[in-house]
Amino acid sequence: MAKRDYYDVLGVNRGAAEADVKKAYRRLAMKHHPDRNPGNTEAEEKFKEASEAYEVLTDAEKRERYDRFGHAGVDAAGAAGFNAGGFQDIGDIFGDVFGDIFGGGRGRGGSSTRRGADLQYTLDLTLEQAVRGDSVEITVPTLASCEKCDGSGARPGTKPSRCGQCNGRGQVRVSQGFFSLQQTCPRCRGAGEVIRDPCSACGGRGRVEQRKTLSVRVPPGVDDGNRMRLSGEGQAGFNGAPPGDLYVQMRVAEHSIFSRDDQNLYCEVPLSFTDAALGGDIEVPTLDGRVKIKVPPETQTGKMFRLRGRGVPSVGAGATGDLLCRVVVETPVRLSEKQKGILRELKASLKANGDKHSPQEKGWFESVKAFFDGLTK
Ligand SMILES: [Zn+2]
Ligand SMILES: [Zn+2]
Repeated sequence: MAKRDYYDVLGVNRGAAEADVKKAYRRLAMKHHPDRNPGNTEAEEKFKEASEAYEVLTDAEKRERYDRFGHAGVDAAGAAGFNAGGFQDIGDIFGDVFGDIFGGGRGRGGSSTRRGADLQYTLDLTLEQAVRGDSVEITVPTLASCEKCDGSGARPGTKPSRCGQCNGRGQVRVSQGFFSLQQTCPRCRGAGEVIRDPCSACGGRGRVEQRKTLSVRVPPGVDDGNRMRLSGEGQAGFNGAPPGDLYVQMRVAEHSIFSRDDQNLYCEVPLSFTDAALGGDIEVPTLDGRVKIKVPPETQTGKMFRLRGRGVPSVGAGATGDLLCRVVVETPVRLSEKQKGILRELKASLKANGDKHSPQEKGWFESVKAFFDGLTK
């Protein structure tokens, strides 16, 4: 069953201070506390859910792991062992009941050979790394099969013994009103056997906490939010079941010069007003270094120049995107008296020639006039 996000459970935002987390929890706990809602299983579930979220979000270390790895980051702390008590059991028992009803006949050992949990890792990348691709080492907390007991959970030299409650069948009959249901044995949780002499290295869980370092090959062209699946790199399975997968979620940082839209890159380039008027060569940045482009005479501010193939490559087989440079014409500042004199001369000369030197101006004044004429009608 999918677990709800802890922040959603408490209704606080991700940056919430500890005091706010506590306040939110207190409110929910008051509302859903079993003593106030006797026999209401929904309230009980909500209370447990809130308590679990509270426990993680008020523990700085757990919270950090949760923020980075999601539920897997905090479940790895040992709650997921197959004979561990606590909340996990409830979900698993439901899972098994539904499995029995809908899937049918998993039989003995069904739940004890569960596949390992999936893990999630957020990988921070610069734009350059995302565009060119990179090989990055990451360290993830995970559960690996215990080497000492070979994942069985029993002390080396001993064997798990037959479960007395289900006589090794892994299933028990439970009467509920008129119905008699076949249910996973609550004692051995379907394994049919229990460990009387647990392995000292893993405490009988069959798996141990481990931090493992992996090299992730980031393909060129990945974008913010892309997810990569590393098959089999999640938590170890139970009793030889296959491991889960590791999902690597890409988070690409903003760049100081370039912004990105899919496979195109955008940047703004300042252009002096004399170059804008007379034309000239300007230097624009690309991810591979500076490139000169020719600006034609009479270039207006906002004009886009497209550099084909200077954008982001496609992760698949598609073509590489473009770099679009938008020029921004700059008004000159800190003019000397002499320069101001030249500009005044230029102004007089432009004026003497009518409005033909300002391509937007005539149309704009006409629109303004039409607007005010419309108002006075
Ligand atoms: Zn062990
Ligand atoms: Zn049993």
